[in-house]
Amino acid sequence: MKTIAQTLAALLAGIFFLVACSGDPETPPPPPAEEEEVVDIWKDYDAGNIRFENRAATTPGGRVTGAIAEKDPLFFDKIARRVLAILYFSPEDSITKVRNLTIRLEDFDGVAYATSDNTGNIIAMSCRWIGSTFLDTRDTVKVADEIIGVLLHEMTHVYQLEPRAPGGYGSNAEVWACIEGTADAVRYLAGSFAENDVGAGGSYMDGYRTTGFFLGWIQKTKDPDFLRLFNRAALHVQPWTFPAAFRYALGDSADINALWVEYQAYRRTVN
Ligand SMILES: [Zn+2]
Repeated sequence: MKTIAQTLAALLAGIFFLVACSGDPETPPPPPAEEEEVVDIWKDYDAGNIRFENRAATTPGGRVTGAIAEKDPLFFDKIARRVLAILYFSPEDSITKVRNLTIRLEDFDGVAYATSDNTGNIIAMSCRWIGSTFLDTRDTVKVADEIIGVLLHEMTHVYQLEPRAPGGYGSNAEVWACIEGTADAVRYLAGSFAENDVGAGGSYMDGYRTTGFFLGWIQKTKDPDFLRLFNRAALHVQPWTFPAAFRYALGDSADINALWVEYQAYRRTVN
């Protein structure tokens, strides 16, 4: 005859068995929804004919970049799709159309810049900069991460919408700060900056990281769609200004100066 303890043990084992069997072993676990969705949405989008042109193949920077591009034929294409997924909701949006994009490695002082000619868009990267990064680290993965970071910024210039306001990028300080800030915001939101890669202070009109990390902070703390709406504001807000673009993206009560003060309080806790 079973003791009470044995009966209890048998009963508990039965309960555990039931619990263990309640999940259907035939059903695979659901895929990680968000990542799958991003890849799936942009998989078939025509981001343009992206090709790599190595004009510095014999330099250390040229050799390491050539090896990275050869190892993964979709290396540059994948960066373009990451940029598109951060700037736009879906391929159905009004997206800056890119026919040809040449990633050109050249011998010049500096890091990289985006331009265009009669063949289409061009991003020029400096083999000197890549070469010195490689010689500093001797680590191809670190060099690839550096290239990805810089290309997230430069490819944003290729795909982002340009605000329309008098003077434009060349002589309108707000448009300039928007263009350069958005490019660093994309790099920040792609996880290609450290949180303390910018200091406190300055103004949202300073462009680059000072503007970019602010835009990224808004997205992380106020609205997960912020940068897509901020980019889209270029189509709907005319003449374009920072305060008006913020109201378009966040609602009529949005006050960019109050948000900047709040952001600076956060920034001082990081640095
Ligand atoms: Zn730029």
